[in-house]
Amino acid sequence: MISNAIEELHAIVGSDRIEAGPAILNRLTRNTLNSPRKIVAHVQPINQDEVRSILTVAIRHRLPVYTISTGKNWGYGGSAPVQQNCLLLDLSRLKSIVHFNRDLGYVTVEPGVTQQDLYEFLEKNEAAFMVPTTGAGPSASLLGNALERGYGITSNEDHFGAVLGLKALLPDGSLYQSTLKELGGYQSDSVFKWKIGPYLDGLFTQSNLGIVLEATIALARRPEDITQFIAFLNDSQLEQAVRCTARIRQTFPGIVGGINIMNRRRLYR
Ligand SMILES: Cc1cc2nc3c(=O)[nH]c(=O)nc-3n(C[C@H](O)[C@H](O)[C@H](O)COP(=O)(O)OP(=O)(O)OC[C@H]3O[C@@H](n4cnc5c(N)ncnc54)[C@H](O)[C@@H]3O)c2cc1C
Repeated sequence: MISNAIEELHAIVGSDRIEAGPAILNRLTRNTLNSPRKIVAHVQPINQDEVRSILTVAIRHRLPVYTISTGKNWGYGGSAPVQQNCLLLDLSRLKSIVHFNRDLGYVTVEPGVTQQDLYEFLEKNEAAFMVPTTGAGPSASLLGNALERGYGITSNEDHFGAVLGLKALLPDGSLYQSTLKELGGYQSDSVFKWKIGPYLDGLFTQSNLGIVLEATIALARRPEDITQFIAFLNDSQLEQAVRCTARIRQTFPGIVGGINIMNRRRLYR
C-alpha cells in the first residue's frame, strides 16, 4: 500500500522533507512540454545513507522512483518523471564536494552541487579552474546536467565527456562503482575515464537505470584571458553563420569554447 510506504519514508526523513499534497506535487511536475505527471510524493534526503533507506522502502513497496539532482531540466520536462505515479527523489540537498584534486584537475561532487557552489568553492580555494557552465544558470546541478549529456561553453564543453567516474545505486539496492575502483584503484579510477572491460558508466545517462550518488568531473584550467564575442544576425545570415561556426571550431580546437546560436526567444534584447 502506498500509504504504508509514505509512512515509512516519513520515518526516514522526518515530516519536513517529504511532501504529498496536490498543490506542491502539481507545481513540481508542471513543465513546458505540457506533459503533466501524477507523483506519489516528493522526498528530499540529506545524505547517501538516507537515499539507500528510501530505495529499500521503494523496492519493498514496488514504488517506481524518479531521481532529480536539482530538477532544473527546463525545456525537457523540468522535474516531472517520465511515467505516472513515481516517487520523486530529489537529491538537491546532497551538496558535498567530496574530493578536489588541484594537481590533476578534477572534482568529485554529489548531485546537489550547483554551478554556483562549485564557483564559490574554486574561488575560496584560489583554484584557477572553470566551472562547467551552462545556460541553465547558477542554480542548476553539475551532475544532473552531465547525466543528461549536457553541453556548455567552457573548453570541456561535453559535460558527460568530462565525467571520469561515478558511483550509483542500482534498482536492487546494490552499489555500482567504476571498475578500477572496484579493484581498489581509487586514484587511477579518477583520471582514466575508460577503465577496463566494457565501459558501463554511460548506462546511467538519460536512462534512470540507477541513482547516481557521486560523479568525478574533469575541470578545465582557467586561461589567463577570456574574451566573449557576440554577433547579431538576421535570418538570411543563419546558414552562413552555421558554416562559419563549424569552421571556427575546427580551426581553434581547445581555444574556442561553445558557440551558442540563439533566437529572439532565448536572448532577450
Ligand atoms: C534557457 C535555457 C538554457 C539552457 N542551457 C543549457 C545549456 O547550455 N546546456 C545544457 O546542457 N542544458 C541547457 N538547458 C537544459 C537544462 O536546463 C539543463 O540541462 C539543466 O542542467 C538540467 O537540470 P539539472 O541540472 O537540475 O538536472 P536534473 O533536472 O536534476 O536531471 C536531468 C536528468 O538527469 C536525471 N538525473 C538527475 N540526477 C540524477 C541522479 N543523481 N541519478 C540518476 N539520474 C539523474 C534526471 O532524471 C533527468 O532526466 C537549458 C535550458 C533552458 C531553459
